[in-house]
Amino acid sequence: MKVPFVDLATQHASLQPALDQALLQTLRGGHFILGPEVEAFEKEFATFCGAAHGIGVANGLDALRVALMACNIGPGDEVILPAHTFIASAYAVSTIGATPVLVDVQRDSFLIDPALVARAITPRTRAILPVHLYGQPADMDALLDIARAHKLRVIEDACQAHGALWKGKPAGSIGDFGCFSFYPSKNLGAIGDGGALVTQDPELAERARRIRNVGQRAKYYHSHQGFNSRLDELQAAVLRLKLPHLHRWNESRRQAAGWYAEALAGSGVETPKVLPNRTHVFHLYVVRTADRNALQTYLKSAHVDSGIHYPVPIHLQEAFADRGWKKGAFPVSEEIADTILSLPMFEGLDQPRVRHVAATIAASGARR
Ligand SMILES: *Cc1c(COP(=O)(O)O)cnc(C)c1O
Repeated sequence: MKVPFVDLATQHASLQPALDQALLQTLRGGHFILGPEVEAFEKEFATFCGAAHGIGVANGLDALRVALMACNIGPGDEVILPAHTFIASAYAVSTIGATPVLVDVQRDSFLIDPALVARAITPRTRAILPVHLYGQPADMDALLDIARAHKLRVIEDACQAHGALWKGKPAGSIGDFGCFSFYPSKNLGAIGDGGALVTQDPELAERARRIRNVGQRAKYYHSHQGFNSRLDELQAAVLRLKLPHLHRWNESRRQAAGWYAEALAGSGVETPKVLPNRTHVFHLYVVRTADRNALQTYLKSAHVDSGIHYPVPIHLQEAFADRGWKKGAFPVSEEIADTILSLPMFEGLDQPRVRHVAATIAASGARR
């Protein structure tokens, strides 16, 4: 039995006639940028997120950049984010000229540690950028308390958490902005790049809307310095077709996670924990073992795909060598990077395949 890491073909086949029709309709409609599909998707996605406003952009990294810029964050400003995340979380800050300030994550959740956030605040801190990593929301109450006390913005990196909940509230709807990616393999994926921001604040929404469209308030009248980062009509048409299925797809991922937890009990690998107050949407199913590299090699030989998200923490990435961050600075993130392995996870992953993956892990003799 082969088990792929993700399987989009099955999902797309289930929507095939509708997808074909939507693509053809967009082609023939002749409206390709900021047209009716984007406008409708922005409203539908905001509603899905329990937010008042939605703004489509070209990708998740840009969603984060636009959010920070809409909050007037730039050179000289510090933004606090976790050391264990995808590089885009940090690039969003560094590429607009602001300063990323890293803190370590909590060992049992992989999520930003609010106690460390409080200690990293300086007079220059302007925002906290929590990442709802792997599909599980960070502790938003603790982070909002800190933000209120210090008058900071909260920009949620919800690029892996479409539909996840914190105390019943959708990820992305809680801070000043929630930022999403529709990279094809995300829980809600386009057939190319795409992204969106959601917010409750009409002024922030209007600023973001202008910044993503060359800072334009009316055609050729530019009120803000911005850039070109628009979601295109084709992607919006596809996302509109997929969005009504997202809750069901997330439920399928949660079910597969339950099967994994059952099948991997006593196997020697540590399974992910769902913390209180959260609904986890399992963008990734990440286990831990001291024998990570050996386990991955064994799985590969048995035709079970796996991944490492991510093998190098932000502070040790070559791209940030000039920052002076040292090995040992964020020990939990470093330990995580050395021991994590992401197992196959996608909507429609069935119990026989989960059991096969677990049996393969058991046969590998992995230990903690
Ligand atoms: C995918 C992702 C992004 C960036 O999204 P792109 O659309 O690839 O730019 C940012 N942060 C996290 C945590 C992600 O997983």
